[in-house]
Amino acid sequence: MSSVTTEIDRIVLTYIRSVKYISHDELLRSFKLIKSRSETDNEVQEEGIDPLQWESLLDKSLSTINTNISRHGFKIDRKKDEISGELYFIFINTVSDDIIKQNTNYSVPELDAIKSVIDDIVEASGYQFSIGRVNAQQRVAANLSRTLRDSSSFVDKLIDDGWFISTLDGTRLLLSIKSLSELKNYLIDRYGTTADEGNRGKMHLCHHCKEIVTLGYTSTRDGHIQSFHYKCYDVYIRSSGSKPDPDQMLTQIGIDPSAISGTVSQNFIDTRSQLNSSNAVML
Ligand SMILES: [Zn+2]
Repeated sequence: MSSVTTEIDRIVLTYIRSVKYISHDELLRSFKLIKSRSETDNEVQEEGIDPLQWESLLDKSLSTINTNISRHGFKIDRKKDEISGELYFIFINTVSDDIIKQNTNYSVPELDAIKSVIDDIVEASGYQFSIGRVNAQQRVAANLSRTLRDSSSFVDKLIDDGWFISTLDGTRLLLSIKSLSELKNYLIDRYGTTADEGNRGKMHLCHHCKEIVTLGYTSTRDGHIQSFHYKCYDVYIRSSGSKPDPDQMLTQIGIDPSAISGTVSQNFIDTRSQLNSSNAVML
């Protein structure tokens, strides 16, 4: 595969890098715009490029970009949104040592404060995988000896820089899709997974897609913890034809998705109504 970077590739890279992460549909729309505005691009002069060809042109561009940035320790990763299942493209650092320490945009004490906030999110009781924004500000204030006002600005910066996302009402913080992608190995090394012996680890890995779950379901089967993203659970049940197991109950991981996305998938509503009626969903 060609790895000669074109002007289009450079624009696409700059764009993804600046927005940090972007959904597939949105990227495809931008990609079409970038190509149609390019005077040097001949491919787009041909009338009537069909949707599949657009997909393949985008794929080719991303593949060339990744070949070129990998040697500098960067990657455009692909990952599905934990609630909608929509594909996202995420610009990440792939340096394998302590990835947080490599971040030169922050001082060492600031990076320690970020780690403390991540600790609080992962270790929040009841699989919440989120903390109150006020708690995050207090944590930052304590770690960096800053006023609560300055700590609030710092938390805003962390959200802008893509570490965390906020609920729609601004009261809680969660790990962003970028952090889940970029920090996946760090999170698993530091906190372990629920597949570890004795289920001692904290990170849940999805039984279906093998990615970290901070929004979804978990249950215990024969002493083993099984966790799923919402959509992954749906797919798993449909494809496996699992019979209900009366001893197995689903517990929600993370906060209510409507607190983040505003829209809730039909799958979630269906399952939640079952949760509400029986306080448990049988597999
Ligand atoms: Zn999954």
